[in-house]
Amino acid sequence: MIEDTVRIKLNEMREELKGFDWNPLVEKEFAFDKQVELVIVRVLSTIPRLENYGEEFIRVCMHDAVSMKLMVFFRIPRTDRWKITLRERVIQIVDEAKEVVRCECGGLIYVQRGPYGRYEACTKCTRRMKIIPVEHSS
Ligand SMILES: [Zn+2]
Repeated sequence: MIEDTVRIKLNEMREELKGFDWNPLVEKEFAFDKQVELVIVRVLSTIPRLENYGEEFIRVCMHDAVSMKLMVFFRIPRTDRWKITLRERVIQIVDEAKEVVRCECGGLIYVQRGPYGRYEACTKCTRRMKIIPVEHSS
């Protein structure tokens, strides 16, 4: 199904991202940052221009707060549902950001996603650990 692309205004984005600060130092995109513990949660959106046909996503990203290395990102299509999806992804990434811990090597341990599910990974060393889903008994 092809959905129409919604043109999102900067003010609408700002409205949705309470607790985030606009970061004017990021070039070519609108960036809104929020520091959560050891990481920066950043929401990026291309500045609307007529020629921007290829850039149809908002991105919700997690960066190392010191090195600014990109750790995780989610793409949000610019459809009618963008606000709902953005809210869900921001909550999810902020929750994950709170779980990020410092590795012995100095890197950051965070949740990654692969074809076989979620695992813990370090931004610097080769540490990998599968996350076993918790069984909920009802
Ligand atoms: Zn490490």
